Amino acid sequence: MKGTVLYGPRDVRFEHRPDPTITKPTDAILRLSATCICGSDLWPYRGIGNFTEPPAPMGHEYCGIVEEVGKEVRNVKPGQFVVGSFATSDNTCVICKDGYQSSCVQREFMSAAQAPLLRVPLADGTLVPTREIPPKELIPSLLATSDVLGTGWFAADAANVKPGKTAVVVGDGAVGLLAVLSAKHMGAERIIAMSRHESRQKLAREFGATDIVTERGEEGVARVKELTKGIGADSVLECVGTQESMLQAIRSTRPGGYVSYVGVPHGVALEGGDLFFAEVHLHGGPAPVRRYLPELIDLVLTEKINPGKVFDLTLPLDQVAEGYRAMDERRAIKTLLSTDGAK
Ligand SMILES: [Zn+2]
Ligand SMILES: [Zn+2]
Repeated sequence: MKGTVLYGPRDVRFEHRPDPTITKPTDAILRLSATCICGSDLWPYRGIGNFTEPPAPMGHEYCGIVEEVGKEVRNVKPGQFVVGSFATSDNTCVICKDGYQSSCVQREFMSAAQAPLLRVPLADGTLVPTREIPPKELIPSLLATSDVLGTGWFAADAANVKPGKTAVVVGDGAVGLLAVLSAKHMGAERIIAMSRHESRQKLAREFGATDIVTERGEEGVARVKELTKGIGADSVLECVGTQESMLQAIRSTRPGGYVSYVGVPHGVALEGGDLFFAEVHLHGGPAPVRRYLPELIDLVLTEKINPGKVFDLTLPLDQVAEGYRAMDERRAIKTLLSTDGAK
């Protein structure tokens, strides 16, 4: 097959790769229905951070049909449609049972999903099958549950979004936009989206944002305070991962309120005194998407939510390099890669 490999900053290649095979009896091989590029893929693409050793097979968001399973796999079988998370999990350890599958004692982070075929370790605990093969038009939304929606959902849940409350979403990437959708679904009365981009503001409003704040940093905080009677918001969802966005999130939260953070942090350092006097709850990390998958898949299949709208660019898989460029230059919010005809 051919798959996506990152060789260095802005050097994405679609090249011959060995077909994945079952290497452990708990593995499954999927033929992907679609895959996509994540905002977090842009960090190594831009050469920031050191967690991806090039040449690195890329991609961690996926859904598709099970082709083959190892001999210890019980919960999924060939021919089923499945969605999995970017983090594998056994779903049986004490951390999984507590709902934090993204920190499972057996966790592996997925990669190599920007390809037609994918090996998924710990298939029983990682993959969630649907009862029937879903219609093609729901594939983008099902793919979104694999990470961006699951992550936005965790942002809202971890920030304790509740009916009648005010939520602020920092970040207008795909995760931020779906954090708006999640906050709306959880009943927030007022949802303030922080965004400077018109097309993203429009989608944020469609997903349930009631107010848009275009200011950033201290000005952004001041604007949120203005909108919340001077005290700050009940829940603030940080979906970026920079020093500015994290401080903006903490300072926009009222004392006793909740800050969630789901953007992979780059260069974030918090000062003890600031934290102490902010008096907020902090809860974040890699989203335990697996916890939410059954519910999110159901919401998509019953067409109660349409998170697939965040994909504003669809390309054939072999044009993956253009997909990265479009997201890097912010011409696209999120690129879906079609596997139709890919071998
Ligand atoms: Zn992702
Ligand atoms: Zn576990």
